[in-house]
Amino acid sequence: MLQFLLAFALTADPKVPDTNVVIRNATIHDGSGEKPTVGDVHIAGDRIKAVGKVGKIDGAKEIDGTGLVVCPGFIDLHTHCDSGVQNKKTAANKNYVTQGCTTVVTGNCGSGPVDVAAYFKKLDEQGIGTNVIHLATHNDIREKAMGNENRKPTSEEQAKMEGLVEQAMKDGAWGLSTGLIYNPGTYSETEEIIGLAKAAGKHDGLYASHIRDESGGLLVAIEEAIRIGKESGCPVHISHIKASGKAAHGTSGKAVEVIEAARKKGQTVTADQYPYIASSTNLRATVVPTRYREGSSKDYVARYDDPVVGPKLKADIEKALNGRAGGKNIQIAGYAKNAKWNGKNIAAIAEEEKKEPIDIVIEIEKNGGAQIVNFGMTEEDVRVYMKQPWVATASDGGVQTPGDSVPHPRSYGTFPRKIGLYSIEDKVISLEQAIRSSSGLPADILKLTDRGYLKAGQFADVVVFDPKAYRDTATYDKPHQYAAGLKWVFVNGVAEVEDGKHQPEALGGKALRHGK
Ligand SMILES: [Zn+2]
Repeated sequence: MLQFLLAFALTADPKVPDTNVVIRNATIHDGSGEKPTVGDVHIAGDRIKAVGKVGKIDGAKEIDGTGLVVCPGFIDLHTHCDSGVQNKKTAANKNYVTQGCTTVVTGNCGSGPVDVAAYFKKLDEQGIGTNVIHLATHNDIREKAMGNENRKPTSEEQAKMEGLVEQAMKDGAWGLSTGLIYNPGTYSETEEIIGLAKAAGKHDGLYASHIRDESGGLLVAIEEAIRIGKESGCPVHISHIKASGKAAHGTSGKAVEVIEAARKKGQTVTADQYPYIASSTNLRATVVPTRYREGSSKDYVARYDDPVVGPKLKADIEKALNGRAGGKNIQIAGYAKNAKWNGKNIAAIAEEEKKEPIDIVIEIEKNGGAQIVNFGMTEEDVRVYMKQPWVATASDGGVQTPGDSVPHPRSYGTFPRKIGLYSIEDKVISLEQAIRSSSGLPADILKLTDRGYLKAGQFADVVVFDPKAYRDTATYDKPHQYAAGLKWVFVNGVAEVEDGKHQPEALGGKALRHGK
């Protein structure tokens, strides 16, 4: 550690580390999906200097890579790290760095900072462990323009939203994201989004969407996203693709067909996925239909006791619970009001409390809501999506610190699970594809040209892991556990994991501005 810090301090440009490292005799996966080769990688400063056969380099630190894999740092297209990376205490982004993740994309599902210039400035000044890429956020932009209202925007409001998207793009956002099950974006019609996507497309941005329905209406929702791409001219990216709930089980093949058909017609359509059968979001978005979620939180809570609306709302929640094994499939991840429910499912809590599952939901909803883990997918559907060459790896997680919450393990385990368990152990996909889907492919989707590949001239975001040991250790019951088997992680040439040890003071990440 000391030598790297020292080198960092002595360099002429304080932003470029004086790193001089050769990783020798490693299995090189370059992110292209091609078969690996055995050779060396030379990192000098913040760049990859050479890949292949590297002679003796004066003064270079030598790392023996025999039996180890060296590959590009992983790019997570879909995270909710927005607040975590802005918090000085968690800016090292340890649960991502310790997976081998060197770049996270924030601003997903339509939510995150609207003022991109201010956000990036803060990250620059404070320092971050991973690089950060950001998207313009539909929900926050709509909230700013017209509040949490269930109606079409006026033409002035539409223009205001388009202006905010354009400003975000000029300040370095990489595209527009929507989260169409969340407020207030859920109240938008397709035309509104096409207008906003055009504003992003003007600046060569992509359209990334948490689509309107990931269950019974999955195919219609994918078609809506494809239409938005077609009419706006943006590449379309389906976030955390899945087939959730009984109504959707087995439909992954059909979803793939719909996407393939659009691709054959020349549209760019891609997706990302986390390698788990459970998803995670808030309880409200899972069991309360959007028509009850308009206005302030006070308005929302009052609806439960409204003589007309209350009974309908409760009946709809009952229906949602019935579709999730009476609440058995919903595990509480974080409920601030009563942490002892964290890690337990709603049916079990109800039994313990001698109440009905609906009463537990109402109690939680009246007291600020909760994050949940929802066991809604099948292993078959997860594997069908994973095999597609246009499906990237992404966690949908956030910055986590060990505590009494019981979050989805994906924030700690996405990359080692896909690469270690699904590829190396279960051989669902080849190791070259697993690595490509975590590096070169997400770089291509973003049109990020100087990262994502192990190639001379690229920024030195580099990972070294032991294929025999690189695995996720985070579980649904005990999620706060870091990945095993990771040896080295360089972010812009700065060693953030050294011989298996995380270096919390090493903040090599940068805010990456689109077009700059
Ligand atoms: Zn989402």
